[in-house]
Amino acid sequence: MSDIINLLPEAIANQIAAGEVIQRPASVVKELMENAIDAEATHITLVVKNYGKSLIQVIDNGKGMSETDARMCFERHATSKIREAKDLFAIKTMGFRGEALASIASIAEVELKTRPADIEVANLITIKTSEIIEQSYCQAEAGTSIAVKNLFFNVPARRKFLKTDSVELKYITEEFKRVALAYPEIRFKFIHNDNEIYNLLSGSLKKRILGLFRKTYEQKLLRVDEDTDVLKISGLIGNPVIARKQKGEQYIFVNNRYVKSHYLNHAIRGAYDTLIGEDQYPFYVLFLDLDPSTIDINVHPTKQEIKFDDERLIYNYLKVSIKHALGRYSLSPKLDFENENSEIRSNIHRPNNGPFSNSLASRTRSAPVMRQWQSLYKGQEGAELQKELDNDSSDFQRSSEVLTVPSAATGDLLVETLPLDAEEKEPYQIHNSYVIVQIKNGFFILNQYLAHQRILFEKYLKSLNESEELTQKQLFPTSLQIAKDKVEIFSELTSELKKLGFDIQSFGGDTFVVHGIPAGFNNSNLQGLMEMLLDQYISNLDLDISKNENLARAMAQGAAIKKGKKLSVEEMRTLVDELFACENPYTSPIGKKCFVNYELEDLEKLFS
Ligand code: ADP
Ligand code: MG
Repeated sequence: MSDIINLLPEAIANQIAAGEVIQRPASVVKELMENAIDAEATHITLVVKNYGKSLIQVIDNGKGMSETDARMCFERHATSKIREAKDLFAIKTMGFRGEALASIASIAEVELKTRPADIEVANLITIKTSEIIEQSYCQAEAGTSIAVKNLFFNVPARRKFLKTDSVELKYITEEFKRVALAYPEIRFKFIHNDNEIYNLLSGSLKKRILGLFRKTYEQKLLRVDEDTDVLKISGLIGNPVIARKQKGEQYIFVNNRYVKSHYLNHAIRGAYDTLIGEDQYPFYVLFLDLDPSTIDINVHPTKQEIKFDDERLIYNYLKVSIKHALGRYSLSPKLDFENENSEIRSNIHRPNNGPFSNSLASRTRSAPVMRQWQSLYKGQEGAELQKELDNDSSDFQRSSEVLTVPSAATGDLLVETLPLDAEEKEPYQIHNSYVIVQIKNGFFILNQYLAHQRILFEKYLKSLNESEELTQKQLFPTSLQIAKDKVEIFSELTSELKKLGFDIQSFGGDTFVVHGIPAGFNNSNLQGLMEMLLDQYISNLDLDISKNENLARAMAQGAAIKKGKKLSVEEMRTLVDELFACENPYTSPIGKKCFVNYELEDLEKLFS
């Protein structure tokens, strides 16, 4: 038989490697930014056009490349970062595999301009499908600019595999944030479609966090700083007040490299314990530094998992460190919250986030902490609010006993079995959160928040699909401030929001003006509602649901009556009627039960 094995041409080998290293525009962002960091840049600009599909460019003021290196850098396994095998165990740079540029150049058109500070003229190289198209000289600032155009132009399968524009932009922004968080001393800019999304001056980690996230985090960050022979942990964590219902503001860096670790997340979450609700995620940006030889760094370039020699030790130590930081905070909440009365007050109208919310958060909060909140709260607010709080905490103390009813069989429940009792018994609300309704053979308990979500969800979805506009003009337009990296996604939503009755227009930059809201809608906290809506919408982008469904879900979650809201008999009746008029009354939009049904028999059994 004749020989059939041959060596793959370089360009194809590169494309195959690219399949692993470059999965989406965000991977290019990561590789180019890391290269700029390795080149010791102090100023890095990321320019993206059309969600990374037309252009991804990183411009740095780092050390640049010589003429030969400029050509060499596109060769596979071309790296300046390791020379011998033993270097692998002491890697200090972000990259070292020498694969990224070769891969990128095989699936895009790349233009490189580079100049070391001590050389007058810059080198310009254009390369496409691994082939050098042009090499010449040009004028350029010292440093390197790499522009990647038409990514995946020759890999249609990859292009097809990409998610929607907003999702790809979210991934890009995420990569940018990770790098920017790890290097607060470096100045970063991020420009998308000519809009400046971030312009981050160099400074402390805290300043960087405020620049990337909400300015309102200012007083709410707690310092973590622990050092032993084995491990150093530093960074900032959010106090419990800023814990959120969406994931996404949790960052762990090991030796300054972003890692994903359920294990470490679990340790941190464990430290917060009952300070936050079961369905909440704390904010944190943490840096673990340890001897590189005790971790496995030689993992796959795109995977961010990490292996430690002694996992348990790291876990426990991390947990204790976070507890320590939180302990300092909860021992002196007054100090931490000195300037935040206004925030606390406004939280009362935002039961989802607030320390006094009737949500799970406050029910699961431990009693001592609750008392601290109370004492902090007393004397600063009127009797009215104190009453609200008292109601709250007594609810919270009793609720766990009352609600531990054995769960009833609900699986085969049919709506037909649920006509209201012929006697028309009044529905009854308990703990301002659940509605008990008597029916023929028993009763059911309805979760007012989840039930209302279902009702609103179906209503919103219908409006979105039918596209009628029911806006009520506001007498005084209100303005909204949207986080810079979300402006683009929010702008795209305004036409849909209009169908829901929100007339919102861009006012330039991150400001929007609300001219109209849905009839009957309470506008007291539009800013909070829109922030919540947008966060929820963005976190749902990963799910496989339509834009309309996503928006309807997010809206329903934001606008539904919360636990803790007292309902009149009339309101309860409407709630029940509307729920059972829904197409699917059984579950909330995210699949939680809206009600549980108890048959009289079930009750009898309890007493047998
Ligand atoms: P790696 O980063 O793993 O070494 P890359 O393919 O990302 O591999 O880069 C190849 C080489 O090109 C690097 O080792 C570095 O010498 C050079 N290089 C890449 N980007 C830059 C940059 N922005 N500034 C200076 N040199 C760079
Ligand atoms: Mg690299």
